[in-house]
Amino acid sequence: MKISVQKLAGLSRKERKDLKILTLFTSVYCVAHHSLPRRPLANLPESLQPLQRYHCCDECRDFLLYAIDRRLRCPLPEKPSCKHCQIHCYRPGHREKVREIMRYSGRALIRKGRLDLLWHYLF
Ligand SMILES: [Zn+2]
Repeated sequence: MKISVQKLAGLSRKERKDLKILTLFTSVYCVAHHSLPRRPLANLPESLQPLQRYHCCDECRDFLLYAIDRRLRCPLPEKPSCKHCQIHCYRPGHREKVREIMRYSGRALIRKGRLDLLWHYLF
């Protein structure tokens, strides 16, 4: 899975934040659902290096790279939340998965009292 490299040089604040949330949530989901060995996200392009501190399994890594790629290709200047978007760029199957991950991990962080993390990322 290749990430569109041109986009990476000038990531906006919003894009970086979205990618961090995506990665954090995927790793929270992975810990709860998969018992496979987890590794740091290696070999990321330079502007995504901060994401390397998150760990996930190979399956989640594939998913995550796909999701990151989709996010970076979003053609809309002001990305709406995916729920309210007309384009639906995720391929079927991945769309359900990203929804499940966001829902599960959002709740998990709230349950664990990690609102600070959510707060940090969302505002
Ligand atoms: Zn996983």
